[in-house]
Amino acid sequence: MTMNTAVASDFRPAERIESLGVSEILAIGARAAELRASGRDIISLGAGEPDFDTPDHIKQAAWDAMQRGETKYTALTGTAALRTAIAGKFARENGLSYSASEIIACTGAKQVIYNAMMASLNPGDEVIIPTPYWVTYSDIVELCGGIPVLVPCAAEQGFRLSATQLREAITPRTRWLMLNSPSNPSGAAYAAEHLRPLLDVLLEEPHVWLMVDDMYEHIVYDGFRHVTPVAIEPRLKERTLTINGVSKAYAMTGWRLGYAGGPVPLIKAMTVIQSQSTSAANTISQAATIAALEGPQDFLAERAEAFRARRDLVVDALNAIPGLACRSPEGAFYAFAECGGVMGRQTPDGTRLDTDRAFCAWLMETADVAVVPGTAFGLPGHFRVSYATDTETLKTAMARIAAACATLSDPA
Ligand code: PLP
Repeated sequence: MTMNTAVASDFRPAERIESLGVSEILAIGARAAELRASGRDIISLGAGEPDFDTPDHIKQAAWDAMQRGETKYTALTGTAALRTAIAGKFARENGLSYSASEIIACTGAKQVIYNAMMASLNPGDEVIIPTPYWVTYSDIVELCGGIPVLVPCAAEQGFRLSATQLREAITPRTRWLMLNSPSNPSGAAYAAEHLRPLLDVLLEEPHVWLMVDDMYEHIVYDGFRHVTPVAIEPRLKERTLTINGVSKAYAMTGWRLGYAGGPVPLIKAMTVIQSQSTSAANTISQAATIAALEGPQDFLAERAEAFRARRDLVVDALNAIPGLACRSPEGAFYAFAECGGVMGRQTPDGTRLDTDRAFCAWLMETADVAVVPGTAFGLPGHFRVSYATDTETLKTAMARIAAACATLSDPA
């Protein structure tokens, strides 16, 4: 008889995930849920998804697809019908001309980014990321062995990267510049006049590729005209990946469908990565996305107008609180406020608020409002408010933050 001498060993994570933690946004959401379960009325302004529902005609298209039996594997990059719909969208809305072979559909735009970095980065390759940034950017770069080169873009410069900063950040190891407009978390957007100088720098640096994330293009305010870089500078088309998706504009975060247009060699390499992870995107979501892109678009402007009213409410309320300051963003559904003016102040129980993290944790514990510290997006001294929720809830949340801040005092 042989004795089983095997003993359980501790789980040993791969080195590649050592520097990555669970997203701070998720951790804040979990704490909010915990407090809620204990009976507290927590308002969560942390999540990055619209409170609107997916429009009915999109749900209907999904049902129709199931009825037609569109429930089997498809081509890795998506059905021909979907890629035609995406090409049509790029042509109609962005002035970009992509053929079906230059398009890939993935399980969310997050997977587009993951595929692109997995397919292109070698250890030590650098990726320039204007900061504040969506944390997924730097985490994916690190996961793929690359080095995120974080370039701080302060509120005074509209949270936008300047041409000088870009020039200084580029080295022979630079592979990509990641540009997101309108931005998560700052809501800042690049108009054509902001993009032109950046694109001129890129023209001088042929080894640098451009990843463009246009996820929030339809959520813009006050007549802001969203324009995608390749429409301004077609000479960059052969080294640009233009990313978009249905999550935010069509309120389809759970459907998990994102897509991109780019040069064939890159799309092919991304397809190799995708073939060994998820295969093609979900067929039902592919059909729903065709309906989203080709169906009625009038509700987009209506929803953007609803977001604008909420933006004004939140930005005005934050600016009325002594110690806080908030730039009015051009788009997305986030306000990125400075909290430097409350740093060093003292709560009624004598705690000094020295960091944005401490401030946000205190708001959660005492004001029952969950917001995300700027540190989570690479820019301390700020916090992000997601205003993708109804007006009454936003009013209550802002009143709670104001009341809490009014209790702060200067240390004796
Ligand atoms: N890009 C940005 C800037 C985002 O904020 C998000 C989601 O938060 C995404 C992409 C990912 O969207 P998807 O749901 O398609 O993965």
